[in-house]
Amino acid sequence: MRCLALDIGGTKIAAAIVKDGEIIQRQQIATPQDNAAHALHNVLAQLLMDYAGQFDYVAVASTGIINHGILTALNPKNLGGLAEFPLNESIARHTDKPIGLLNDVQAAAYAEYQLQDQSKLTNFAFITVSTGVGGGLIVNRQLLTEPNGIAGHIGHTLADPNGPECGCGRRGCVEAVAAGRAIEAEASTWDIPCSPKEVFERFRKNDQKAIALIERSARAIANLIADLKISLDMQKVVVGGSVGLAEGYLPLIHRFLDEMPEIYRCEIESARFEQDAGLVGAAYWVKDILLAQVGWEARYG
Ligand SMILES: [Zn+2]
Repeated sequence: MRCLALDIGGTKIAAAIVKDGEIIQRQQIATPQDNAAHALHNVLAQLLMDYAGQFDYVAVASTGIINHGILTALNPKNLGGLAEFPLNESIARHTDKPIGLLNDVQAAAYAEYQLQDQSKLTNFAFITVSTGVGGGLIVNRQLLTEPNGIAGHIGHTLADPNGPECGCGRRGCVEAVAAGRAIEAEASTWDIPCSPKEVFERFRKNDQKAIALIERSARAIANLIADLKISLDMQKVVVGGSVGLAEGYLPLIHRFLDEMPEIYRCEIESARFEQDAGLVGAAYWVKDILLAQVGWEARYG
């Protein structure tokens, strides 16, 4: 089965045909910013025309929350003109093929799960530590997306009740303490202001201020992993994102987890997918959901 996969991010939209996890005919364009909703309708129409006749279903990984086919977010203001965008309906105008939509980090979690030994792993999580902190949760081998698309927004669990205010409006979220944006906010107040990349360079040169800042981030992620273990019996957590994959970061998470009682620890490793996790994960997930529906395979399989 061939999938038309779309990955809609805040700055770019990727599209490709995905078959058995292989990506072909990939293209990438900028996410429209001006008159965004009208422009996105046009972009989707064009993409469906470009790939017409080449796919059996459509799978979309998108930034934000996909709630019953509508694009929204914890803080819809962050989406600008795309808040409450009718994503499913916009695509359905141009195709009669089945359409599935999910959050981009949920999709990435599903992609990473395909690389694991699923016979041994029933509970699995993916955490991305990048500009923000996001996640995707697989429990009993099912990716959690229902009922409102919120599951996996674990960057907005509590790290510090007295911490900085988060973009979602709550105080002290993991994201507000651990994300690249949080590192940048703190390092921009230093005598010599630093970008997150420069903070990591100073961290690797044993600069005490940089070490404290990166450790604060990694400790919040280690606590998040411990919370996932104790609340959901998580067996393995994969960590990705520009901060999560930065040299020296995963060993810190290991160190902080090792300081906790045994029951809070679980296996952790670095994410293996790079830029196309959203495309591949969405393609796999929608296929698995569709195949589970009686009769679909007979019609399209
Ligand atoms: Zn938050």
